[in-house]
Amino acid sequence: MEQFDFLIIGAGCAGASGAMYASRLNMKTVMIAEMPGGLITTTHLVENWPGIKAISGPDLAMSLLDHAKSFGVELKNEKILQIDTATLTAEELEAGKRPGFLVHSASNKYLAKTILIATGTMHRKIGCKGEKELENKGVSYCALCDGAFFRNKTVCVVGSGDSAAKEALLLTQFADKVYVVSRTTLHPEPVNLQRVKDNPKIECLDKAEIAEISGTNKVEKIILKDGREIPMDGVFVAIGHIPLSDIVGNLGVKLNDRKEIEINRKSETNVAGIYAAGDVCNTEFKQAITGAAEAVTSSFWAYEYLNAHEIVLPT
Ligand SMILES: Cc1cc2nc3c(=O)[nH]c(=O)nc-3n(C[C@H](O)[C@H](O)[C@H](O)COP(=O)(O)OP(=O)(O)OC[C@H]3O[C@@H](n4cnc5c(N)ncnc54)[C@H](O)[C@@H]3O)c2cc1C
Repeated sequence: MEQFDFLIIGAGCAGASGAMYASRLNMKTVMIAEMPGGLITTTHLVENWPGIKAISGPDLAMSLLDHAKSFGVELKNEKILQIDTATLTAEELEAGKRPGFLVHSASNKYLAKTILIATGTMHRKIGCKGEKELENKGVSYCALCDGAFFRNKTVCVVGSGDSAAKEALLLTQFADKVYVVSRTTLHPEPVNLQRVKDNPKIECLDKAEIAEISGTNKVEKIILKDGREIPMDGVFVAIGHIPLSDIVGNLGVKLNDRKEIEINRKSETNVAGIYAAGDVCNTEFKQAITGAAEAVTSSFWAYEYLNAHEIVLPT
């Protein structure tokens, strides 16, 4: 069975950055990811990665993965299903030994001395009538992936944050008309708010909520909770994300009430040897660079931990 000093679940901005640092600290490191590149690959423009004025999300993700791989990090394209811990006696713990982990995918098992959880999030759904039925038939969660299908059409973005504004701005490259449906008001970064205001194709519908997405085999209209019906070809949902933290459920890793993994300034969880970074964590400000920084921090403290303890791997 393959054995690693630092096993990273996830290969988004956080996972790839942590991997690069860990391998430079001479830890045998692997990234295991269902979707290498992660969430940033769904955005067309990143203007706040230090040192690069503008880059597409896919290009940024690719450069991070390439950087990690150039230092010898392996990337495995698999979904991790379960993590088990070695059981140690009180005497072993007293002697400074610490438990290692057995990590399972559907077809493989890996031994890990330390683990970084960098699993990010999944899209939050509106939960309204018609959303599920019309997914991929006009309902989308990624303007970069699906925007080009809506050339000269009318679409809406549902959401109030910076992601919603960016999705709307991207969609103006294809659609004739882009509504932004916000439960409150749109409040992105000021630079994106100005871009939205300056764009004649965008119309903001504030204090509005979708009650139903309606259509036969494809999106035809949205019905708002106040009764308004608006003809529509596409609905892009950008109302946030749900952390993918179930994987640590059996390990006793502490989650907050939003199911985010609680970490400290060393990116440690409450379970020795398990670190977490990026969007899956309980940090308020979730960006590519903040997740990368948390992951880099974790690699340093995992290195220190491995120098301080003998790890007993599961048998
Ligand atoms: C539209 C949009 C625009 C954005 N624009 C910006 C921007 O301009 N600047 C910025 O800094 N941030 C931006 N963000 C936020 C940024 O994308 C995220 O903060 C960042 O990508 C999160 O990185 P991560 O590594 O924590 O998670 P993710 O990128 O979500 O990566 C998670 C990784 O874990 C893997 N994974 C999950 N579960 C498992 C499992 N069980 N087994 C194996 N692999 C698993 C996934 O496949 C993936 O590889 C934007 C987000 C959106 C939605």
